[in-house]
Amino acid sequence: VYSLYCMYNFCQSESLGQGSFTRIFKGSKIDIRDGERHVTDVLLKELDANHKNCWESFFEAASLMSQISHKHLLLVYGINVMVQEFIKCGALDLFLKREGSVSVSWKLDVAKQLASALNFLEEKNITHGNICAKNLLLAREGDASQGSSPFIKLSDPGINLAMLGRDVLLDRIPWVAPEVLEAPERLELECDKWSFGATLWELFNGGQAPLQGLDLERKLQFYETYKQLPSSEWTELADLISQCMNYQPAFRPSCRSIIRQLNSLITSDYVILHAAEPLPD
Ligand code: ATP
Ligand code: MG
Repeated sequence: VYSLYCMYNFCQSESLGQGSFTRIFKGSKIDIRDGERHVTDVLLKELDANHKNCWESFFEAASLMSQISHKHLLLVYGINVMVQEFIKCGALDLFLKREGSVSVSWKLDVAKQLASALNFLEEKNITHGNICAKNLLLAREGDASQGSSPFIKLSDPGINLAMLGRDVLLDRIPWVAPEVLEAPERLELECDKWSFGATLWELFNGGQAPLQGLDLERKLQFYETYKQLPSSEWTELADLISQCMNYQPAFRPSCRSIIRQLNSLITSDYVILHAAEPLPD
């Protein structure tokens, strides 16, 4: 059923299911330019009726995204219902799970693009607050096994952490920075560095959710006992992740330092590392 309703120049068509607190639809944006009709796929995010109390925060996320522009940040066109560009290849976590073999240089490209979006936000003094592989959308797949470049866009942060219930916050362990659990209303730039570290871990672990299967109590214990995610055998990568996931926010690296370190991660180190492993008998 095309066009359940038309709002301004947006039309809603099929349902794509639920997000956190949202209902998600695919739709179309219709523009008349030079007397011609142009139709673009869009994604519509509507706040779920059960969460109308989060309206202000939802509106804030949509209006933030519509006011800033960067090649690695998702375009948001409209804010009553959040109308975003539709990204055909979908979210990065699902892609990694589906794809199986993804080259190291492809993953490094994704990491560098996310770091460049973070750097942009840091310069504008904007904290995102919900960085994870699910919120990275693949605008171009590239050739994941051959290493030809992907192109990612960071999606909107959704409802502000201060509005979320304790259980939702705990469920976001290990993406949410530990200090946020103490004071979700005081979001600092450093908390995105922690989430960046967790997202890097996901990226290099096939889109697996870190700490999957742990109940909320055990997730909380993970932070209370200052645990770290299992470290990669690629020492330089493991080191970058652990710098980002430092329990002391002040010790986390700047975006510049993250970018510098990513640039010095040479995929050949990874290849040599694997070649040096004893062959299985
Ligand atoms: P949160 O605020 O926690 O991020 P959300 O409401 O943004 O929640 P998600 O779980 O992030 O919802 O998104 C649900 C699914 O919708 C994603 O897994 C992805 O497959 C799809 N999706 C989200 N945004 C887009 C988009 N712009 N284009 C295409 N698919 C999208
Ligand atoms: Mg999202």
